Parts: sequence; structure tokens; C-alpha cells
Amino acid sequence: MAVELTPVEPTPVAHDVSRASTHPDVIVIGAGFAGLSAAVRLTKRGARVLVLEARSRLGGRATAFPDRDTGELVDNGQHILMGCYTETFGFLRDIGAENNVRLEPQLAVTMIDRAGRKTRLACPTLPAPLHLVAGVLEWDALSWRDRWSMLGMATPLKNARRELEGSPLKAASMDETVENWLIRNGQTPRLRELLWDPLALAALNQMPNQAAAPLFARVLAEMFSDDPRAAAIALPTKPLHLMYAEPAREFIERHGGTVRTGATAKIGLNAGRDAVAGVKVGGETWTAGHVISSVPWFALAELFDEEPPALHGVIDRARRTGSSPIVTVNLWFDRRVLDEPFVGLPGRAMQWAFDKRLVVGETASHLSLVSSGAAEILAETNEALIRRAHEELLDALPPVRDAKLVRATVVREPRATFSITPGQPARPPTRTELPGFLLAGDWIDTGLPATIESAVRSGHRAAECCIE
Ligand SMILES: Cc1cc2nc3c(=O)[nH]c(=O)nc-3n(C[C@H](O)[C@H](O)[C@H](O)COP(=O)(O)OP(=O)(O)OC[C@H]3O[C@@H](n4cnc5c(N)ncnc54)[C@H](O)[C@@H]3O)c2cc1C
Repeated sequence: MAVELTPVEPTPVAHDVSRASTHPDVIVIGAGFAGLSAAVRLTKRGARVLVLEARSRLGGRATAFPDRDTGELVDNGQHILMGCYTETFGFLRDIGAENNVRLEPQLAVTMIDRAGRKTRLACPTLPAPLHLVAGVLEWDALSWRDRWSMLGMATPLKNARRELEGSPLKAASMDETVENWLIRNGQTPRLRELLWDPLALAALNQMPNQAAAPLFARVLAEMFSDDPRAAAIALPTKPLHLMYAEPAREFIERHGGTVRTGATAKIGLNAGRDAVAGVKVGGETWTAGHVISSVPWFALAELFDEEPPALHGVIDRARRTGSSPIVTVNLWFDRRVLDEPFVGLPGRAMQWAFDKRLVVGETASHLSLVSSGAAEILAETNEALIRRAHEELLDALPPVRDAKLVRATVVREPRATFSITPGQPARPPTRTELPGFLLAGDWIDTGLPATIESAVRSGHRAAECCIE
């Protein structure tokens, strides 16, 4: 049954705040990108929403915390957005946070290869995929043979675009890896190392020889659409929870909803175990027409004391879904060491280095080095990871030797994203067999890898299901 709603007015209206916390229309469990975007969409449509978040801070896998020594708000890992994150930008506009990210005019990245050679790939503002082709043809990091090999991707990219538009044609097969797909389409080792592998690692968080190709084809189809800005990179200009999560909370509460942190939710079932009886946090229980779970795949089973038979298949698949880690090493120097917001370090364990000046301010000398698909280094000690990150940075940027490393920290996210190796269990749809219970989260079947955009699309979808 759909919720009866009155859309929110353009100016804030005086809602009965207590009703959202006692008689919500919809309960959203989890306050990451998925849960908050669902709650904001519902709030915009006039629903009274109660958001329950287990942790003491908002943001889930995209959050920040104060550094113990410097007090600086440090992200749990650098996040980048792409111009093609259309629903994410819509969400940020809804909550008045669109200025908390800075979108580049087009795809442009500086790369330092394993020999220390620094070059720049800059795609001109031409329609896609011409801008990428033109950018690669101009890129002096590559031999002419490498540059021309790019043309082998023209047909697969066209097919990926068609697939996105609904054609039954498949750009890549389910059982091939990104690496196999690129080799099959004639991409040289150098072009893969400098362009495709860093792109795939950033987008999929899994090694190209492990990740399934169709999701990469989908990412490329979204990036290389008619709008040249779709492939451009956007960087947050605030610590992650301030960038979107706190503005979302403010929006929801201003319009009569409630956001509770430190609230681990459990779902109670009726006697027949075929309907939700209520959502509990400690001794409190709420009922609502709809409950949206936006918890990650690894937390779904724990939502229930008793497993509802209607969700047996979904919970079983969620349990069997693998995870892929990200390791971030934060390095503080006694002076500025990078003269641009980020550089790619292809072929190294730490594949990107970000200068946090954009977030922390001009006086900062804090770099975040990121290792995606980091399964091989996850178990290393903090000291070893810091040494590795520092040495790789010095190797790529010898002038950094003049700067003194004054502090370093490590952030491990062992379950940063769900695994997308071929053969992983199927991802679930938004609607479930349990009446009134909906799923959101980056791992829902959006067709995208585990990204902010997947989370937001899933959240919007779940909200629309409550409203329809
Ligand atoms: C280090 C790192 C770097 C990344 N980089 C990028 C990037 O550059 N670009 C990009 O697009 N994506 C990136 N991602 C992926 C992106 O962060 C995720 O896809 C996205 O944040 C997932 O959002 P979500 O809302 O689906 O899940 P989550 O953020 O995991 O939110 C789920 C929330 O549910 C809460 N919860 C769980 N159980 C309960 C319960 N019982 N009761 C109440 N609450 C509960 C959790 O505490 C959590 O806050 C990165 C991820 C990591 C970890």
C-alpha cells in the first residue's frame, strides 16, 4: 500500500516534529548515501520519515572522523564523484550541498608512471567518445602503437552505450574479467596500465584480472555519454559527513523528519513470520507503512532475530557475497608537496595521491594515498603500509624528499565494496517478498558497481516504491 503524501512546500513548513519520531510513515534503517537519499526523497514528497543509524556518526562507508593528534576531520577514505553521477548531484542539490563538491570541466588526470615520468591526459570538450580518443591520441606517455590500440574499444564502447539504452546486445560477457575484455579488444599492456587499469580500479575497487567486465562496460557507457562532463572527476571540498550527511540530516529534520544515531535497529516479525510487526531500538518499537533497509550486504541478516522465510533467498545471497578492501594512508608533511589536487600512480600499490588542501584549506600539507582492490596489502602492519606509501611517493615525486614526514595514519576498510568477481551471487531488487519491506544500498541491483551513485539510485528507487 502506498503512503499518502503531501509534497513539502518550497519554504520550510512547521511540521509536528514529534509525529515523525512516534508515528513515521516510513522507517529508513542506515544513514549512508542510500538511506539518506531515500529519506530526503520521501521527505520532499511530504512523508514523515524516521532514520535509524547504528553508529554515532552519519555517513556509513563515506564518512569522516577527527584525527586523534591534529583534530583534523579525516575521511575514512578519499571519495571521488564523476560527472555521470546524475542522481547524486540531484540529491546534493535537494539538500543545498551541491557546492560541497567541485566538478572539473572535463576528464583530465596527471599520471606518474613506474619510471617516474609525469604526463597529463586531458580530454578536450568534444562529444564522447571523441574527447577520449582525442585525449589519448595527444597523450605523450604512450607510443603511437599504444594510442592507436585505443580504437579497438570504439565498438565495445558503442555496444555498451546501446546496452544502456536497452539493446539486448551485450558489450562484455558475464564470465570474462576486465583484463580479458581489454586484451580481447586489442588494448596494449601500456595503455591498460596507464589508462584502463587505474580507471577500473577506481570505479570497481577490484583488480582488473578479478573484476567482471560487464560492470566496467556499464561504467564506461555512463562516463562516455553525449555530455563530455560525464567523465569529469568531482572532488568533495568538505570532509565527507559534512559534505552530504549532515546537510541531509538538516533537510530531513527541518521538514519534520527525525534522524537518530546510536540506534541499532532490529526488525520484529508477526507470529506467522510473514510481515514486519515493528522496528525496535533497545526498548522502543515503531511501526510504519514501509521499512527501507539500506544496510550493507554483510549486515542484512543481523537485522532480524528470526529470519523471515520470504527473505531466505536474499539473505542467503547477501551472506555469500564477497567484499573488497580499500587501504588509505594519510601522510602529513612539514610543507606542501603536491601542486595539484591529485595524481595517478599507476602500477603501484597506492594508485592515487590526493592533496587534502581542497578540503582542509590552503595551509594543509596532508596527502591521502589510496590503494583500491587492496586485498594483498590489507594484512600488512601500519608501519609497513606507511613505509610503502612514503617510499612509493618518493619514488614517483623525488622532490618530496625535501619535505619532512611529520605524521601518518592508516585507515583500513576491509569491506569497502561488494566483490564483483564473475560468479558472485545475484544482487537483489528493491522490492522484496516481505510486504512493506524494501531494500536500498549500493549492493542492490542498480547495474552499477559499489559507488555513491549506485547507493543514491537505490535510495531514490526505494523511496519511489513507497510513494507509487
Ligand atoms: C574507503 C572507501 C573509498 C570509496 N571511494 C569511493 C569513490 O571514490 N567513489 C564512489 O562512488 N564510491 C566510493 N566508495 C564506495 C561508497 O562509499 C559506497 O558505495 C557508499 O558509501 C555506500 O553507501 P550505502 O548507503 O549503500 O551504505 P553504507 O554507507 O554502508 O551505509 C549503511 C549504513 O547502515 C548502518 N547500519 C548497519 N546496520 C544497521 C542497523 N542494524 N541499524 C541501523 N543502522 C545500521 C551502517 O552503520 C551504515 O551507516 C568508497 C568506499 C570506501 C569504504
